[in-house]
Amino acid sequence: MNTERKDSHVASKKKPSSTHLSKTLFMKGLQCHKALYLEKYSPELKGELDANTQQRMAGGHEVGEYAHELFPGGIEVPYDGLDYSEQLEMTQNEIRKGTKTIYEAAFSFDGIFVKLDIINKTPKGWDIYEVKAANDVKDHYLNDLSLQYYVATKAGLPVRKAHLVHLNRAYIRKGKIDPEKLFIVEEMTSEVKENQAFIAENVGELKEMLVGAEPVIDIGKHCEEPYECGFQDHCRAHLPKKDSIFDLCGSKEIKFELYYEGFLGMDDLPLPRLEARQRFQVEAHLGKKQIINKTGVKDFLDSLSYPLCFFDFETFQLPIPPFNGTYPYQKIPFQYSLHIIERKGTRPKHYEYLAEPGKDPREEIAKRMYSEIPANACVLAYHKSFETGILTNLKGWFPKYAKKMDGIIDNMKDLQAPFAKRHVYHWKMQGSASLKTVLPALIPEMTYDGMEVSHGGEAQEAYFEMCSATDPAHIRKALFEYCKQDTLAMVKLLEKLYKMI
Ligand code: SF4
Repeated sequence: MNTERKDSHVASKKKPSSTHLSKTLFMKGLQCHKALYLEKYSPELKGELDANTQQRMAGGHEVGEYAHELFPGGIEVPYDGLDYSEQLEMTQNEIRKGTKTIYEAAFSFDGIFVKLDIINKTPKGWDIYEVKAANDVKDHYLNDLSLQYYVATKAGLPVRKAHLVHLNRAYIRKGKIDPEKLFIVEEMTSEVKENQAFIAENVGELKEMLVGAEPVIDIGKHCEEPYECGFQDHCRAHLPKKDSIFDLCGSKEIKFELYYEGFLGMDDLPLPRLEARQRFQVEAHLGKKQIINKTGVKDFLDSLSYPLCFFDFETFQLPIPPFNGTYPYQKIPFQYSLHIIERKGTRPKHYEYLAEPGKDPREEIAKRMYSEIPANACVLAYHKSFETGILTNLKGWFPKYAKKMDGIIDNMKDLQAPFAKRHVYHWKMQGSASLKTVLPALIPEMTYDGMEVSHGGEAQEAYFEMCSATDPAHIRKALFEYCKQDTLAMVKLLEKLYKMI
């Protein structure tokens, strides 16, 4: 047990100089004082945003544009080309002029600058709208909207009602996007008013914190809730690079409990306090073990038949449904890789598809699968619920292929099963049965390291990049290589299972 905490979360002596806040900074400070402090004074310590977060932010902008159509004809106070004071001035000018609807209206009070997505004038005061690119109202949105209300009212705007606007997951696109149906508007005025004391108190606390030394705050569940904190590498620098307590599978509660007692790595954990699957992982780790349940593996292999297909989809998700028949954040396939082994012992043949930039790929995918996957073939996927979900969507979009899709779903087997059920476990799998951990543990020569696209999030990002690139050839190549690697990895894993028995 290591009770020594290294320096990553020890307070620095650096003296701060600014207590100005924006809504984003305020929300960050509510999540963790240290995160706000670091964001203000040491932003260089932040890790890069992952592909999904970047995509979410880009999608959020488009959602905002569509939300403006709920109140057409408004005037926008732009971010670009105007500094803060010019944005404030423009907002006040528009209010004075009698403009009915203002998008991105800017207000400031007590050093807090906020932009309100939409403000709309009524005879009894202004209605404010905060737009979220999400399908549901999340708890922390109340604080977000409450801060907007707090600053706008303190700055002199007579607010009548406060609203959250979010996406409607039941909206199915038919032709042009219909903003009235795409969004759900929820009035939250009374909740926001009740929350004002909390906001005022926290504004005061955060400002006071920002003129002191860096807060000493240890990592915890707050690092991921409600947002993934970008300073985790910095705050976790005292943990072992490999086999840390957080590489354990299972319950976070137990992991944090042990961490706070001083356990940083996996080598000296009190086994009786762990969940069964965590104990299994630690025992395998300590003994550097590979565990094979031959009966379990054999039963799985006996359930397969030929022709045998290895199949993998890549998908993207967007808040604004891009095609007819799709809803917000529905997974849309844009690529697949397929290896087919006709008879046991024969070499696999490879088939693949990648959408052309800007084209709706769905029907082409259904059509090609129809012709390429043999009737009654046994189809292997890795974590098959993902693939069956997409097949079900394809069936709904194109009923003429429904029988084929049903056939594939019925004959689909999950190659993850023998690893998830621990029929095969290697200590390097670190308690996980995902392809990205199983493959390097069992077939180290087949690695994703160094590939331009190396996981699903990057594939989605590369697809969007490809769609806007003037010369997309190298991105297409990287996508083809990545997806092919996924099904080839499945072929090799199956060979490995046969060798094991
Ligand atoms: S990683 Fe956790 S402790 Fe560190 S700043 Fe972020 S939220 Fe705070």
